[in-house]
Amino acid sequence: MLKPSDIPADFPVRPCAPDAAGARTCGDCGLSWNDAVPTAWTPAPSGRCPFEYFHADADARREYVRRPIVDAAPDALTLALALAIVAPDEVARIATALAETLADGMDAGAVERAKQSALDLVAGE
Ligand SMILES: [Zn+2]
Repeated sequence: MLKPSDIPADFPVRPCAPDAAGARTCGDCGLSWNDAVPTAWTPAPSGRCPFEYFHADADARREYVRRPIVDAAPDALTLALALAIVAPDEVARIATALAETLADGMDAGAVERAKQSALDLVAGE
């Protein structure tokens, strides 16, 4: 994941808060931006990120983060929920659909425990 401070001050697109009005968030680097501010990079086409040029380090970090999650996930639902949080957009969509399928018909308490377990995995606990 990139931090807003990883983006050079003279880059035309500025990272914004993920909960800002109109913000879009990249599943790869985790940065958010506002497509309503027109630049050479924004509005960004669907599935693209205006900070892609700075992604190289983020890719390496994502692999580092993902592997312990795969190894440590106690079950498929927890793994799917964790990947829905950390994976790039297209993988996150598949993981979310898989999690919904796996959770269908499960006890609500078990689903909640899996969600907490997934958050703990992502946090590295
Ligand atoms: Zn990005």
